[in-house]
Amino acid sequence: MIEKLITSNLKMGIIAGGQLGKMLVQEASRWDISTYILDPDSECSARNVASVYVQGDFNDFETVYNFGKRVDILTFELENVNIDALQQLKSEGLKIVPDPDVLALIQDKGLQKEFYLKHHLPSSDFACFDDKKSIEKALKSGEIAYPFVQKLRKGGYDGHGVALVKSAEDALLDGMSIVEDKVEIAKEIAVIVARNSMGEIRSFPAVEMTFNDETNLVEEIFSPANISLEEEQRLKELSYEIIKKLDMVGLLAIEFFIDKEGKILINEVAPRPHNSGHHTIDAMVTSQLKQLLRAILDLPLGSTELTSASVMLNLLGEAGEHGAVYYEGFVEAMAIEGVKIHLYGKKTTRPSRKMGHVTILDKSVENALKKAEKVKSILKVKAWKK
Ligand code: ADP
Repeated sequence: MIEKLITSNLKMGIIAGGQLGKMLVQEASRWDISTYILDPDSECSARNVASVYVQGDFNDFETVYNFGKRVDILTFELENVNIDALQQLKSEGLKIVPDPDVLALIQDKGLQKEFYLKHHLPSSDFACFDDKKSIEKALKSGEIAYPFVQKLRKGGYDGHGVALVKSAEDALLDGMSIVEDKVEIAKEIAVIVARNSMGEIRSFPAVEMTFNDETNLVEEIFSPANISLEEEQRLKELSYEIIKKLDMVGLLAIEFFIDKEGKILINEVAPRPHNSGHHTIDAMVTSQLKQLLRAILDLPLGSTELTSASVMLNLLGEAGEHGAVYYEGFVEAMAIEGVKIHLYGKKTTRPSRKMGHVTILDKSVENALKKAEKVKSILKVKAWKK
C-alpha cells in the first residue's frame, strides 16, 4: 500500500459522496491519491472533486462488490452499506478500513449497546424489542416505564429513528428497536479518536454540542468543551478503551452524555469522519480527514493539538425554502475575522438540509460564540428567486 502511495499509484474507494466524502477526497488529493466515489446521486457533493465517480446503490451487493474490485483500498463515509459485499471483498484480500466486522456491530444500535455492557463501558440501561407491539406489552406488564427513549436498531440518522416517549400520548416507532433509560443530560460531548494498525492511538480534544429543539440537528459545536480537566481526561481514557476494545483501525467518533450528576455515559459511536469534527480542518494541526488517511494507510498518526478555539455552525436550509440554492449574506459573513465558510456543493436546498458549515476561529470560545450569533443572523440558506 505504501509503495503505491509514494509512487502516486494508489486508488482509494470511498463509499458515498456526501460532504464527508468530499472532504476526504480533498485531503486525499494532497497526497495524489486517486479517489473513486460510489453514490446513487449524480449531483452528490464529492462528484466534482473525485477522480472517478461511479453511480450506484451502496446497499446493493453487486454494486458494492464491483466497485471494490476497482480499488486498492476501501473506506466508507456512512454506516448504511451492504456488509455482505464488504465481507466478500475482504475474504478476497481487499483492504477495507474500518473492518466490516466493526461496521456490522456499529450499524446495529442493539449490538452496540450489548458491546458496551459486555465490556463494562458506561452507557444507559436498555432492552431490545422486535417491534412496537412488544414494547406496548412490556409497558403493560411494567417491564419498562415512561419516560424512555426508543431507537430503531438500524438505519437512523440525525435524530430520525429516535423518539423520546414521555407518556402514552407519544407515538412509538415500529421496527426492531432498543428502549433506553432517558438520561438527564447536562452536556452532550463528542470525542474523535484514531487508531492505526501498529496500535498507535490519538484522540482530539473533546467538543461540546448544542442541539436545535425543533430540527434535532446540531446547532453549534464548540472546542474546547467547557468541562473540567478530570472530565477531559476521563473522556480520553474512555475513547482509547472503546477503540481498543473494538480492535478497530480508522477513525471513531464517540458521542457522550454528561448527566446532571456528572456521570459520563456513551451514547453512540460512528466509525467514520463526523460532523463533530468539522472544526478540525481549520482549528487543529491535523484534520480528522488527514488522521483517517494516516490511520488507514498505516502511517504515524498526526498531532491532535488545537491551533485555535473554534465554534462550528451547520449551514442548514431555511424553513420554507425549496429549490436552487443561494447563500444570503455570504459576503457580509466573510467580512467577519476568523469566519471560514465551507459549502458542500449541493445545488438545491430544502428545509434543514445540511448545505455547508461555518467554522469561526477566535482567541476564546466565548469570543467565537459571539461571532457565531452574528453569522447566524446574517448568513442564510435560501432558494434563488429571480
Ligand atoms: P442519531 O443516531 O440519530 O444521531 P442519537 O442516538 O444521537 O441518534 O440521538 C439523538 C439525540 O437524542 C441525542 O443527541 C440526544 O439529544 C437525544 N437522546 C438520545 N438518547 C438519549 C437518552 N438515552 N436520553 C436522553 N436523550 C437522548
